[in-house]
Amino acid sequence: MQITVTGAAGYIGSHACLRLLDDGHEVHGLDNFSRSFPRTVAALQRAGGERFHFTQVELNDQDATVAALRLHVPEIVLHFAAFAVVPESVQFPLLYWRNNVGATVSLLHAMDAADVQKLIFSSTCATYGEPAPTHIPMSEDCPQQPTHAYGESKLACERMINAWVQSHALANRDRGAVFLRYFNVAGGDHLDRIGEDHDPETHLIPICMRAATGRHPELVVYGSDYPTPDGTCIRDYVHVEDLVAAHVEAIKVIPLRQTLAMNVGTGVGASVLEVLRACSLAAGSKVPFRMGARRDGDPPRLISNPEKIFRLTPWRPTRSSLERMTQSAWRWFAK
Ligand code: UDP
Repeated sequence: MQITVTGAAGYIGSHACLRLLDDGHEVHGLDNFSRSFPRTVAALQRAGGERFHFTQVELNDQDATVAALRLHVPEIVLHFAAFAVVPESVQFPLLYWRNNVGATVSLLHAMDAADVQKLIFSSTCATYGEPAPTHIPMSEDCPQQPTHAYGESKLACERMINAWVQSHALANRDRGAVFLRYFNVAGGDHLDRIGEDHDPETHLIPICMRAATGRHPELVVYGSDYPTPDGTCIRDYVHVEDLVAAHVEAIKVIPLRQTLAMNVGTGVGASVLEVLRACSLAAGSKVPFRMGARRDGDPPRLISNPEKIFRLTPWRPTRSSLERMTQSAWRWFAK
């Protein structure tokens, strides 16, 4: 199958490209390198050979996006390209509206211009905002009330894509989309060809790895007075290869003339301190840390109810133990 992947050089997009290439698909990656690196594209080229094509393009530039999509017209688009740092979105909301929503407007225009019908959109549990305790674990009908620009921008994209699908359906044309609402993602490729590679790094597990080796002074735990057993935030971590596997299954169930939302999480949460301990074990040395203040926009507990994706697809998170994810992150980091 010919597949276009936006954000192909980014953390999750690059792992998706690798899996699709390993499965024998022809992949056209798009990226503007605003938060990612050409070295990741080089790794994908090594893995995919002639089946991997890459175009550097600014998705906010509609004409350029149309031209890029027409280079290798795909059967389906996987749209990962986005900014995804919550505190940054609190500080610079317009950046998030322009980059995440603007790019998606362009992409949908380009899909129409190239007559591409199917889309998988990287959404997030942040569209649910701060769920009431009665809504945890969170299913897809948890009210979507985001509390920051990142979550707002992703919810706006979901609504826009839904309107796009509906408008085509009214005109008797087929379009369809799946929204995968990610929880926290960790780990890297099982062959360590690529891994989690952000600059600047803001995510918990990579910061722990850096701190364990002295490349980051110490982990600051953002808040120890949350209403959780150890006082630190609880998140539902999914191995990036499990997350990518969910996309592979989602491709098989994209509805036409409708959209389908599915949470991608394990149903099990881990606190910041639990993750920190797992990172120390994986790295073989203690992660230095201190307790700090809460970070803006962080809900105390985000845990998925994965029943829907379990019911609609054979997907199961088989690689998402904390031990396996932190070992995977450590191997990549050490390399
Ligand atoms: N976290 C932390 N210190 C850090 C980075 C993250 O305590 O330096 C916490 C953060 O408050 C959250 C969890 O770790 O509860 C996961 O944060 P991350 O930024 O990795 O992902 P997010 O949940 O924001 O998508």
